[in-house]
Amino acid sequence: MKKYKYLYGPVPSRRMGLSLGVSPIPKKYCNYSCIYCQLGRTNNLTNNRETFYDNSEILKEFEDYLKENIKFDVITIVGEGEPTLYKDIKELIIGLKEKTSKPVAVITNGSLLYEKEVRNALTYADIVLPSLDAYDEETFKKINRPYGKIKFKEILDGLIMFSNEYKGQLWLETMIIKDINDSEEALKKMKETFRNINYDRLYINTPVRPPAEDWVEQVSDKTIQLAVKTLNGISIEMLKSEGFYSEEENDYDAILSIIRRHPMNQFEINSFLNTRNCNNIDEIFQKLSLNSNVEIVNYKGYNTYRLR
Ligand code: SF4
Repeated sequence: MKKYKYLYGPVPSRRMGLSLGVSPIPKKYCNYSCIYCQLGRTNNLTNNRETFYDNSEILKEFEDYLKENIKFDVITIVGEGEPTLYKDIKELIIGLKEKTSKPVAVITNGSLLYEKEVRNALTYADIVLPSLDAYDEETFKKINRPYGKIKFKEILDGLIMFSNEYKGQLWLETMIIKDINDSEEALKKMKETFRNINYDRLYINTPVRPPAEDWVEQVSDKTIQLAVKTLNGISIEMLKSEGFYSEEENDYDAILSIIRRHPMNQFEINSFLNTRNCNNIDEIFQKLSLNSNVEIVNYKGYNTYRLR
């Protein structure tokens, strides 16, 4: 496979299947320096949106990639930092969507959504995954250590505004950190904070990879369960270990047994089959599409499967 500068993967993503990453910013350019960041401390703390790279160069690389016919389910714009700092992100999303029918997702810290231009740019994506870990100015400063004068209220208002304007899938993610935002009281405050955000899913995470600050600790499974219950969210860990499970040995039968009770989207099916080391995923999708008992609902460019 050819070496790429802006693309990486595809990598299996628990939420989205096989994800092809597109990074439009240089390493560790971010307007936060989160205590849990797996990239370490931010050495280029900036809030200036810039055209770091020529959009046509990134799109050209994507065209070359498509020629290799490598399978992927979703394109994810995610930098080793904050991708909305890339000034041409709207043109990038539009350009990617013109070249493929695969959904385009953006993983962002959501901090720039108070800017109209950023909100407008992200409306072109099929899935937007912003994060929100704090419930007030103090926890925001403690966890995310934002650039200069970025204020919690401002970023929350931006997120609320975007969530009401956006027609695609909005999957919010929150990081629960031991002794920082994991108490019952903190979780209740978070619930209150999230109340006005119009999201489709809420993913609950905890720092499982080496964090920027070595004193940052992940929470126990019990606390994750408490957060899942209080916030009515989905645990990312559970997606891996217990999210979907079937006793059926045959992979196709396993999918049928799950979608009988619980619809699965194409990415969840993909991830699930990957965890079972299945080597005929395409065939299974083909079989599902030919099964008249399986209802396939297409929404915003991706399919959800359920048994009639
Ligand atoms: S927003 Fe993301 S990239 Fe930026 S410091 Fe936080 S975790 Fe790291």
